[in-house]
Amino acid sequence: MSSRDEGGVSAPRGTREGKVSARGGARISTEEARTQILRLLDARLSGDATERWFKHMQLVVEDANQVTVFVPTETHVLWIQENFLPELIHALSQVLGCGGRPRVLAMNGEAGGQLSLLEEPQRQSRAKEVAAEALAKSLKTAGLNPLYTFDRFVVGGNNQFAHAACKAIAAGVRTAYNPLFIHGGSGLGKTHLMQAIGQDILKARPEFKVIYLTCEKFTNEFIQAVQKGNLDNFRRRYRRAHVLLVDDVQFLNGKEKSQEEFFHTFNTLLDGRAQVVLSSDRPASEIQTLEPRLVSRFECGLTVALQPPQLETRIAILQRKMEEWEVKIPEDWVRFIAQRIRSNVRRLEGALVRIATFNSLGQGELSTERIEDLLRDILREEAAAKVTIDTIQKTVADYYDIRLADMTSRRRPANIAFPRQIAMYLSRKLTGGSLVEIGEAFGGRDHGTVIHACKKVEQMMQTDDQVRQSVAAL
Ligand code: ADP
Ligand code: MG
Repeated sequence: MSSRDEGGVSAPRGTREGKVSARGGARISTEEARTQILRLLDARLSGDATERWFKHMQLVVEDANQVTVFVPTETHVLWIQENFLPELIHALSQVLGCGGRPRVLAMNGEAGGQLSLLEEPQRQSRAKEVAAEALAKSLKTAGLNPLYTFDRFVVGGNNQFAHAACKAIAAGVRTAYNPLFIHGGSGLGKTHLMQAIGQDILKARPEFKVIYLTCEKFTNEFIQAVQKGNLDNFRRRYRRAHVLLVDDVQFLNGKEKSQEEFFHTFNTLLDGRAQVVLSSDRPASEIQTLEPRLVSRFECGLTVALQPPQLETRIAILQRKMEEWEVKIPEDWVRFIAQRIRSNVRRLEGALVRIATFNSLGQGELSTERIEDLLRDILREEAAAKVTIDTIQKTVADYYDIRLADMTSRRRPANIAFPRQIAMYLSRKLTGGSLVEIGEAFGGRDHGTVIHACKKVEQMMQTDDQVRQSVAAL
């Protein structure tokens, strides 16, 4: 194919604009590069393949490692990726000296037509817009929200490790992090992190099939597929993924058939070396009725936990949200919100929106009482989420069928003493109370007794399955 019959592509234009570095350092126009690449392809491909698949190709060269090749339709993209990628990579490296894989994107419909009529500089900028549109579209197809990026995630001591693991996966370091299992309470950023992984991977590898979905959606689709008898389609869709992100897998609790399907999909993906990321509001071993084989499958990669953020991190999150939403509230209000809402970032956001809205209405100063009043339901939710020593004592007493009074009594038979030790252990783990406070709450015992109780329970959990299960259940 010669460069004359390019069908709709303008002749080389702009000697000053739109130049790219060719191999060896010389500067040539994008059009010239395009022509040379077509010639090389033509020499290597048989029949009319170049004419048929590459004739309308447009190049956007950001640098030697970031080349985007636009072709008219998704069909072109698929066909080129399946059949001609090595030849394309070779031609690009010969002409432009690029080392990596190009991104091959469709410039559907109108955009494609217009692209070829524009002057070089406009063509480049329009092509970038087309690339952005294509990215937006593929994010949507993958089920990803463009706002959940790593940039927008505030890192603190509570989430540092989880964040680092997610970044590593997004950067393509697969190693042993497969599957990655992220667990943590509601509103601590599990969905945000999973989605950020998906986005980074799609940006770097647009040809990858990335799927984000909730476990609930997976289960519902599975049930529908069974009912309609098109289980094959369902399987093909998920088992072809390069990256599968399944949110809230605690939803599998009590769903035997879905667990079965999940197990097989999961094995297929891991055997095929796809990356799997899962999230849950609790550790896998604490999802009741989750089959042991799934628990061990979930835990065979890397497990990371998200904790509630510390005060400084909560303040940093509020500040970041104010920048993003372009709102501003006085510093002491920020502090007030951060001090009162500790366990859930979603709730923190809710409080900020409410106060910022109030502020934007120009109602003047807010007293502490007024803020409390505005946030009443949010603060009530927060209080309910906070586990107290009282509720732990009551729950443990109910579970072991002993009197609540025995939690604070001096009585020592083992059937009472051991539940009391479990309650102390749980109080230490869940309430953030000091050893002295906990000792006090258990009938004025000293802190050594609490330490002893915690050690004993931890030991028992390691050696005695029954104890471990009881503690998990509690
Ligand atoms: P989860 O899935 O754990 O319930 P989400 O990922 O949905 O929580 O997070 C709830 C909200 O809080 C989202 O709007 C998210 O952007 C925000 N969020 C959570 N953690 C952070 C963080 N560390 N930095 C910034 N925003 C966060
Ligand atoms: Mg979530």
